[in-house]
Amino acid sequence: MTGGEFDGVRAVVTGGASGIGLATARTLSRRGARVVCLDLNDKVEEPLTGVRADVSDDGSVRAAVAAAAEHLGGLDVLVNNAGIGAQGTVSDNDDAEWHRVFDVNVVGMVRVTRAALPHLRESPAAAIVNTCSIAATAGLPQRALYSATKGAVLALTRAMAADHLAEGIRVCCVNPGTAHTPWIDRLLAEADDPEAELAALAARQPTGRLVTAEEVAAAICYLAGPDSGATTGTDLAVDGGMSGLRLRPK
Ligand code: NAD
Repeated sequence: MTGGEFDGVRAVVTGGASGIGLATARTLSRRGARVVCLDLNDKVEEPLTGVRADVSDDGSVRAAVAAAAEHLGGLDVLVNNAGIGAQGTVSDNDDAEWHRVFDVNVVGMVRVTRAALPHLRESPAAAIVNTCSIAATAGLPQRALYSATKGAVLALTRAMAADHLAEGIRVCCVNPGTAHTPWIDRLLAEADDPEAELAALAARQPTGRLVTAEEVAAAICYLAGPDSGATTGTDLAVDGGMSGLRLRPK
């Protein structure tokens, strides 16, 4: 799709230098938006603009959001997408690790949103889209900490939607299944048998393949854009049917 439904729109995408965030930034840009990517890595291709930010550091976030809003002349769309993974059961991660991952995946979104809200309130069509995960509700094994952060993101999305409804700011989230991004490539590189691991990840999804970053980006753009004007507080699964079909492993 190459429509101009985001013409004139000013967007910030966190974690915009890789994977789902980069695909989202590219799609928004292709459809007419001006996009600033806030990321630990500020190297992004033209016409995207990169600003270095660590979402776990409030000072860094405030400076980066202010720089982005100044560069763009305001802000209409915020995509809270930066996130990190964690593996294991509750016994496998200590308190410091729980705090570290929550600080990025949950409080990071809060920090960026807090800094962005004064700008979004000035927008005629403001929208926030948070990248959640099917891990929020799926009960995945060996993902206790990660799943807990994404459960918090789902709850936060609904609470934010309620709090900012009267201000005209819509807030939704996407729940990707396993999406083929550099994150998954890193996991595969660590596996004893990467090919078998990839096949197992694909088989977990009813469609029998991984989701693409572009498919998640398209859903984020729908939730951020004018076609979803009647939608807020909702979560949209992009998971190869994993949550909706309720299939059991054969
Ligand atoms: P990725 O690793 O390819 O990209 C993540 C980006 O976030 C990177 O550019 C990284 O530099 C940035 N980032 C990490 N920590 C940061 C911090 N403290 N401050 C600023 N930027 C930071 O990962 P991805 O697969 O594109 O994942 C993006 C989001 O999608 C995450 O929130 C993840 O939880 C979610 N998600 C991914 C999948 C999947 O299968 N890939 C599935 C469900 C949800």
